[in-house]
Amino acid sequence: MKDTIQHNINIINERIEAACLRSGRQRSEVQLLLATKTVPADRIKLALECGELLIAENKVQEIKEKYEVLKSTQHTKHFIGHLQSNKIKDILKYDVACIQSIDRFELAEKLNQRLLFEGKTMDVFVQANTSYEESKFGARPEDLIPLIEQIAGLEALRIKGLMTIGLFSAEAEKVRKCFRLLKGLQEQAKALNIPQVQLDELSMGMSNDLEIAIEEGATIIRVGTAIFGERIYPDSYYWNEAKKIK
Ligand SMILES: *Cc1c(COP(=O)(O)O)cnc(C)c1O
Repeated sequence: MKDTIQHNINIINERIEAACLRSGRQRSEVQLLLATKTVPADRIKLALECGELLIAENKVQEIKEKYEVLKSTQHTKHFIGHLQSNKIKDILKYDVACIQSIDRFELAEKLNQRLLFEGKTMDVFVQANTSYEESKFGARPEDLIPLIEQIAGLEALRIKGLMTIGLFSAEAEKVRKCFRLLKGLQEQAKALNIPQVQLDELSMGMSNDLEIAIEEGATIIRVGTAIFGERIYPDSYYWNEAKKIK
């Protein structure tokens, strides 16, 4: 099993290198993040033993379940799923270094309050819905810059970058448009020089579209399937649960 994981990681690294070469970027500019939803902790551990350091979960419940097994193996953990306000207290218990999926002020404000109460700070990315699909979370691209400006005023949050899930499409140019939109928003927001806001990270690109994302400036690509295999749950289970409840 470890051999398969190592093999899959090697292939991803070759794909990253090739995309960097094509777009005149350094390999060191792009970090590989392992998207580990549905993957059991012992398999994640094997990937960490292959030398990977950055992982991310979509549900607080899964972070909690895998926490003990992974605790003793060095890694950094991000959160990339839809965060419900009532899970904020919980997520702060499990050494999450960055929440990449902040997409509304109400959530940011509640997170800030709790962090202040605990005397902590948190790195965050602001998530944009660059494909404008109903099924995906993220702020509307038009609303992103005002949202960043608002969040910038929350003293326990440190904005480090932007995140998006691009359109799932076989048409590369449509996917590229999403990533280019996020890059454009990053540049616009950076030009405003908002105090306390650093926007160096662009988290975009997954198993099927990581090359396009790297060509468009991704600094973090999030890969699950291409390393751990197909998941049994559809992604909609992770991406639009709250929308289904409505
Ligand atoms: C599952 C997931 C990924 C990884 O997707 P794959 O297609 O399995 O590589 C990336 N980002 C987010 C937000 C995810 O939920």
